[in-house]
Amino acid sequence: MDLQTFARMAEAIAPDVIANRRRFHANPELFWKERETTLFIEKSLREMNFENIKVGFGGGDTGVTADLNSHLPGPCIAIRADIDALPLEEESDVPFRSTVKGVMHACGHDAHAAILLGVASILSKVREDLPGRVRLIFQPAEESGLNSGAKHMIAEGALDGVDAIIGLHVWSSLPSGVFGLRSGGMMASADVFELTVTGKGGHGGRPQEVFDPTIAAATIITTMQTIISREIDPLDTAVLSIGKIESGTAPNIIPETAKITGCVRSTSPDVRASMEGRMKRISDGICAATRCKATMVYTPIYPVTVNEPGMTELAKNTLSDLFGAERVVETPVAMGSEDFSYYEERIPGTFFFAGMADPAKGTDAAHHNPRFKVDEDILQDCVAGLCGIAWNWMVAKTGRN
Ligand SMILES: [Zn+2]
Ligand SMILES: [Zn+2]
Repeated sequence: MDLQTFARMAEAIAPDVIANRRRFHANPELFWKERETTLFIEKSLREMNFENIKVGFGGGDTGVTADLNSHLPGPCIAIRADIDALPLEEESDVPFRSTVKGVMHACGHDAHAAILLGVASILSKVREDLPGRVRLIFQPAEESGLNSGAKHMIAEGALDGVDAIIGLHVWSSLPSGVFGLRSGGMMASADVFELTVTGKGGHGGRPQEVFDPTIAAATIITTMQTIISREIDPLDTAVLSIGKIESGTAPNIIPETAKITGCVRSTSPDVRASMEGRMKRISDGICAATRCKATMVYTPIYPVTVNEPGMTELAKNTLSDLFGAERVVETPVAMGSEDFSYYEERIPGTFFFAGMADPAKGTDAAHHNPRFKVDEDILQDCVAGLCGIAWNWMVAKTGRN
């Protein structure tokens, strides 16, 4: 099939994609509470005669997966959209603004859900000609961190029988109409830690009787930065930030404990895996030297989002063929994180940004900002782009066309 056919089909359904996006925008739902969103998606997919429709993941009733050509042998590509909103009061003045107090689609997941329904509409119309199988994943709870929707959906079979995956994020720091792709580490991992230093408390005027946990904690904080400056390859990226220190109650009391909490990010899975051990070594060493004891709880949140080079190249070429090479750029690494990373830990995939920043339209506000706005003019190209990449991947795998 000629790629431009997808562009024409996407143009024809653009008003529906925009209407769906506005519907989701006006009715935002927080993670694991995307019930109305899920019902609407399920109903739409049933009307389009999707197969194997599964609803409800993570022990709840939100999230949907659905297949096309499930009977065919051969390769299967998944296309994923996240569908959850954020706990935020919308400040934009659009007529379809959020009708739910304190909840807003401020990351663009309303657009993602609408785009994937547009993809569903187009691919279901050409199902007889599809060179392979397609699974759509409408994922809840991308924003929930520890209780990630992707993690639950994978555990409950969303990737069973799937060979590759693609997904996109509308992106307000890239100009409207430009697509940003990157091979390898593309978005950072995000982990958090809590370190408790226990000493021996006592009178502030009698230091000889205490083991001061505050001094030990302060030394740990500064020495831990040498992991970044002296231990990690300068060509890799890692960030270690202390967000909170708690210690003591009064000027003349040396406390029993000091607590440090912070976050660790990296775009290298190897660096990420090494961080906990490095931090423990430093805190244990400093505590041994200062007669204190360190206990660290390190909590991994999202892995590094690592794009497979072949899939990324295929996506780049497809988007260039569809929209012109000048609209496709290599995006810098983003230090935000994504639970799309869990899918890419299992199967090859690529995740990319769809630029939508247009200062004249006010669509350049930051993600998670109360004035965040989506440039709806880019949605049809996102639909055509995903259809085209999925199609080209199936053609490449089967040789059919
Ligand atoms: Zn977000
Ligand atoms: Zn997001």
